[in-house]
Amino acid sequence: MAISGLYIDGAWREADREFEVTNPASGEVIATVSDGNQAHAEYAIQAASAAFKSWSQSTAYARAAILNKAYGLMLERKEELANLMTREQGKPLKAANNEVQYAADFLRWFAEEAVRNYGETIPSARADQRFIVRHEPVGVVAAITPWNYPISMLTRKLAPALAAGCTVVLKPAEATPLCAIEVFKILIEAGVPKGVINLVTFSKPKPIGEVFCSHPAIRKITFTGSTAVGKKLAQDAAPYLKRVSMELGGHAPFIVFDDADPVHAAKGASLVKFLNTGQACISPNRIFVQRKMLDPFIETLAQRIASMRTGNGLDPSNSIGPLVNQAAVSKVANQVDDALSKGAELVTGGHALNDGEFAGGHFYAPTLLNKVTEDMLIYREETFGPIAAVIPFDDQDEVIEKANDTHYGLAAYIYTQNLSRAMRTFEALNFGIVGINDINPTSAAAPFGGMKESGLGREGAREGMAEYLETKLGGFSV
Ligand code: NAP
Repeated sequence: MAISGLYIDGAWREADREFEVTNPASGEVIATVSDGNQAHAEYAIQAASAAFKSWSQSTAYARAAILNKAYGLMLERKEELANLMTREQGKPLKAANNEVQYAADFLRWFAEEAVRNYGETIPSARADQRFIVRHEPVGVVAAITPWNYPISMLTRKLAPALAAGCTVVLKPAEATPLCAIEVFKILIEAGVPKGVINLVTFSKPKPIGEVFCSHPAIRKITFTGSTAVGKKLAQDAAPYLKRVSMELGGHAPFIVFDDADPVHAAKGASLVKFLNTGQACISPNRIFVQRKMLDPFIETLAQRIASMRTGNGLDPSNSIGPLVNQAAVSKVANQVDDALSKGAELVTGGHALNDGEFAGGHFYAPTLLNKVTEDMLIYREETFGPIAAVIPFDDQDEVIEKANDTHYGLAAYIYTQNLSRAMRTFEALNFGIVGINDINPTSAAAPFGGMKESGLGREGAREGMAEYLETKLGGFSV
């Protein structure tokens, strides 16, 4: 019997069809989940519309109390959720635990923000006039989330939407519906009323995206995923002038200047590059190393890679898990083969892992490429895999120009001990998030999002709540 992933109007619904969820480390089917259709999406939108009036008029304190309760429940279930995430998505248990904590942080942060949705009074030039500004929830929100962070990408949208007083219909990635179902169970147990949150699992996303974009009751689309799909959704929503938030792909530069400590920089690069097996939007795609630093940097990074164990994330000795599917393995292999054919040097890795404990899973060996050049695919295409691509450079202006030479603009990293250089490079980079001698510039309290084709809008922080609010002006003649 399929697990229901259709939580609509306060009840788990059945569907005529189902789809399989597999463990990417073994290929084993771990569950079957109900496969919805456009009628389920429409039903969910109706339920969210019907619930909007009472939810948006509930007090911010009532909504905050529910989010706080959900925060507590998520932490109580941290291990259980992390275990499920590792089986469904593949990341090692330690990383899965970290993700659950990050996901819970959004519930708490936006519980706190809910009660700080302040308005403004503005002085008028007329003695008989008063201006008042208030911020109201935008309405029913359609949310679409990816598989790589299958819990935190949900709470990063649900928590601010609920805090603001919006109701939501959410479609999770086909690869990770089980994590989404558990997030919904927590919110339901915390007391989110009927119709306020609706979950719809589908194996075919396109028709559902069409319903979300064209249905008149949806006032906002919030999407995290690839730039190609984000552009399509933004285009489809445009004729209806729906608000959109887009958290899209990245191609992060990681710049190591010659005054940095090469060992510290290589440690940072190894931790952030191989996080989630490279399947992160903020993963460094191009590691620029100033020529004087190249040898010690490569040597340290190669040593660190040699000490990483790849395998099933349930085994705590493994720090590198599988890729999401075979297509992801092929994409990575294609980028590596292309780079090698154009003259890159293979320092370590460079092959898929198929035999023995890897059979049935989607594994690729952690790989280090040196002397990557601009004509290689990996220099332009998001990799989303465990490949560290190193590009030597000579001076600061050159590296800034190269770093900015991409249509993406999500994350960037700088390693230097020179304060002036750090500040100037930070200011010159066209990226929404910049880590300076820091590989984790993310927090529920900090605005996350990209420039250029990496997105529109921000998640987390005060900005994250503003995405779900309209501004209303009252001009009073007194
Ligand atoms: P994706 O293929 O764009 O899918 C994302 C979500 O969109 C999934 O739920 C997917 O459903 C759905 N989808 C696909 N085509 C659709 C359509 N035509 N209409 C409506 N929905 C559609 O991306 P992904 O492979 O899951 O995620 C990886 C990408 O996400 C990378 O580019 C990564 O950089 C980006 N990402 C960005 C951030 C950020 O904050 N900027 C965070 C995480 C990931 P199915 O699963 O059923 O295909």
